[in-house]
Amino acid sequence: MKRIILKKDGAFRIKKGHPWVWDNEIDRILDGPGNAEGICPSACPDAVLVPGEAADVESSNKEYLGRALVNPRSKIVARMYSRSKEGIDAGFFKRRIREALERRTAFYDLARDSCRAVFAEADRIPGLIIDRFVGWPFNNAETAPDNALDNALDNVALSRPLTFDDCEKTWGPPSVYLVVQFLTAAIEGFRDQLVAMLPEWGGAGNGTCTGIYEKSAVSVREAEGLPPREGLLYGTVPGAADNGATGLLIFENGFPFLLDIAGGQKTGHFLDQAQNRAALGQLVTRHWAAHGLPPSVLDCFSYTGGFSIAAARAGAAVTACDSSAAALSALQTNAVLNGVEGRITTVSSDVFDLLSQLSREKARFNTVILDPPAFAKTHTSKSAALRGYRELNLKAISLIAPAGFLVTCSCSAAVDEWLFRKTVAEAALDAGRRLEALAFRHQSPDHPVLIGYDESLYLKCGIYRVL
Ligand code: SAH
Repeated sequence: MKRIILKKDGAFRIKKGHPWVWDNEIDRILDGPGNAEGICPSACPDAVLVPGEAADVESSNKEYLGRALVNPRSKIVARMYSRSKEGIDAGFFKRRIREALERRTAFYDLARDSCRAVFAEADRIPGLIIDRFVGWPFNNAETAPDNALDNALDNVALSRPLTFDDCEKTWGPPSVYLVVQFLTAAIEGFRDQLVAMLPEWGGAGNGTCTGIYEKSAVSVREAEGLPPREGLLYGTVPGAADNGATGLLIFENGFPFLLDIAGGQKTGHFLDQAQNRAALGQLVTRHWAAHGLPPSVLDCFSYTGGFSIAAARAGAAVTACDSSAAALSALQTNAVLNGVEGRITTVSSDVFDLLSQLSREKARFNTVILDPPAFAKTHTSKSAALRGYRELNLKAISLIAPAGFLVTCSCSAAVDEWLFRKTVAEAALDAGRRLEALAFRHQSPDHPVLIGYDESLYLKCGIYRVL
């Protein structure tokens, strides 16, 4: 086993729990215990490390820090998998995945709830993401008019929203579908072993795993020297190899959502916002109870309507805006499934353009939600991202009626919570409005925050009253 010896100050961050060793932190690499000189005295990882191999990481005074998998082609040369000298093999991954799933049971009922089952470094399985969706294959009316599933929808959707129990009574217990992302060369090396073990793991005691779909067509793989990849890995997945179905029907906070795993963005559904959507629903319910009027909500960057549905189900009149026509068409289906199609209007537009237009029209909303894509993918694009957040929040705040609400999110890990709060405060100042901070929320607990690994706390969701 090769040994990576860090420079003098390199060990502190790793000891605190950060899982990455950067290329410029390596002092030398030793080829096993006997070679004190080192095979690579001047930090030349490309020459000696093989992508995907395991190595031990030590401090400058040879204190053992843990075991990593390496990729000399990446700036992050080593990612820590364990603090001990345990073997990193199929058994290791099986244990880690089982533990990750067990930890989810504190917050999720795995028989009914969809959740992110493995969140890479934050679950101490660097490079691996697994979203675990629990639901039923579903055909909407246009594609399969005589289908039993569709008939069931006709029976219930017109009078009331579709429920989990309706589905279970009609089609039996739900199936489990996994959407996986292999983000690093090291985890890519275990791809076949992981794919072989996942069906059994996904099913064991947790429902039947019916399909696994890979969505590794993501830009972070480029930094690892890997090509994008996407496709069916096992079984059937609605909309992919299961051609009889147009989507996967899941329930979030009790509300139905139709997902397009293969064609949708990311893994098909942004699970990380689930609890923030519930918080928004509560806000709307209370506002209505207090004022006797349904609030008007503008959901910017709505995607398939996670926030829109939560607000409409609580009684709000919602305007949802996204630049993706496919996302808005899915949103309309979701509105029908939830019995709120009369309460949601969709606008296919760039959000910045729509906000300018609404401002010219002097429109006012009780609540504006901002959930943009990550403006800063890296630290180098941070200042442009901050300008973007400031402009966006300024435009949104200007549209909020007095004592209304701003729900503003950022999923850029490079912009930390304090910087984001400061940017929102500056936007309010620019808009000439005061803000009352009501709650500051983060990602749902299926995206764990690992202390010492600040990048894991990536989603910020500030809820403000705008005076
Ligand atoms: N709020 C959503 C997730 C948003 S993801 C939910 O709860 O599920 C970000 C969305 O912003 C994507 O749907 C993307 O299509 C959209 N988007 C990106 N840039 C945009 C822009 N400039 N104007 C409008 N929509 C945009």
